[in-house]
Amino acid sequence: MDEPDNRNELDLSQLHDVGHYAVDRLVEHLTRLPDGPVYQPVPSHERQTILSQPLPLDGVDPRQIIVDILDDLFRFPMGNNHPRFFGWVNSPAAPVSIIASLLSAGLNPSCAGGDHAAIYLERVVLDWIKLLLGIPGDAMGLLVGGGSAANLIGLAVARHVLLARAGWDIRGRGLNGAPPLAILMTDQSHSSITKAVELMGMGSKSIRLVPADHHYRMDIGELARILENECGGERASAIVVANAGTVNTGAVDPINEIAELCAEHGLWLHVDGAYGAPAILADETRHLFRGLGRADSIAVDPHKWLYVPVDCGCVIVRDEPAMRQTFSMVPPYLKDSSGAPPWFSEYTYEQTRPFRALKLWAALRERGVAGYRADISHDLRLARRLGNQIQESSDFELVAPVTLSVVAFRYRPAGLSADADKIDSLNSALPRAVQEQGRIFLSGTTLGGRPVLRACFVNFRTTERDVDEILDAVRAAAPK
Ligand SMILES: *Cc1c(COP(=O)(O)O)cnc(C)c1O
Repeated sequence: MDEPDNRNELDLSQLHDVGHYAVDRLVEHLTRLPDGPVYQPVPSHERQTILSQPLPLDGVDPRQIIVDILDDLFRFPMGNNHPRFFGWVNSPAAPVSIIASLLSAGLNPSCAGGDHAAIYLERVVLDWIKLLLGIPGDAMGLLVGGGSAANLIGLAVARHVLLARAGWDIRGRGLNGAPPLAILMTDQSHSSITKAVELMGMGSKSIRLVPADHHYRMDIGELARILENECGGERASAIVVANAGTVNTGAVDPINEIAELCAEHGLWLHVDGAYGAPAILADETRHLFRGLGRADSIAVDPHKWLYVPVDCGCVIVRDEPAMRQTFSMVPPYLKDSSGAPPWFSEYTYEQTRPFRALKLWAALRERGVAGYRADISHDLRLARRLGNQIQESSDFELVAPVTLSVVAFRYRPAGLSADADKIDSLNSALPRAVQEQGRIFLSGTTLGGRPVLRACFVNFRTTERDVDEILDAVRAAAPK
């Protein structure tokens, strides 16, 4: 008989040994990280080794599995735990949150709902996020997979509410024949908004781009004009998506003025603060977020500027009953008579949900509001330091004001300064060239049709000395 009667005992002693070994090696990895390259491309033979592994037919010793992870996979990280990583919007993982991730996997609850500690912990961290962002306490929130999910959920509730107001039952009837609904936003909005609009069957043609000003913020005069002239008539209504920190330049739309117009015209205001919303904590940027508490729905990503390990997004909706009406569906096998609050799964499309709250709760407790305020101010200062260095140099140009912690810039060496096409091709080739050198990590984007470089600071490990490497590293990586 192959009775696995001692399987549990065996597993737990291995968990102990392998766990200690893994944590020791992880700490060693993180300690040595700053001395090595921020990034190195995966060589083609290593890529093949990873890709060609056969399905294991027999079990492998757990210690060997952990050794393989640490010896092989940890050699080729994305780079975002490193102090000189400035790509996209990817932060390092807060150490206490790493351990909390391990423990949440160990506890392994589903946070769909019910009466267990994880459910109440999610409610408390959502209350904390509302307090941090200045959102009224009766708003409903959820931890989700990221900004994309948060935007999708916020927009889905918006659509449900606006169409219900126009007498249309979207859940029963779908979109066929529904009164049209417009999405108003600038061309700086994140692609996840467009994806959500497409996924909801509204079609990206229902997006009306509102012109931005020369600082890449929504032009409030243009929004007012569009609302006066174009959004009456056959439109049921409109959803305005305001950016609270764009990926391209960190621009923050004038939220309070937009909220004013939305209130006047009966529109829904969704604020995408996936990256930028935590900057409401810093004295120097708080004023940019005036009116955030007036938004109908908000997306914020704790896995970006709150340094929580991926994944941890958050959506907040002011009107709790509307959010429940958008998603609630309780089949007989999920009826709960415990007296616990309504299940989170009544407020989203997911049923089984991970225990994201634990790693966020741990990070918020470790740093406290004061710690986050200091970390975020530090990131803002580093961005301004780079912005100043660019303005003082003759071979770089700043292409957008440094509002939050993104710096958008171009390299224009003396010999090329008159040749726009050559400068364009240089700047579009630079991100990969810089990345391959391994000194610093930048990514690129396009602004006004031209390729630009961008450095984003969401990293509690970065120092001023790391920032001081950036321009030199770009010069060194440029083809001679
Ligand atoms: C990152 C980001 C998103 C998408 O969030 P994910 O967590 O990547 O799904 C949306 N909007 C903004 C402004 C972002 O920075």
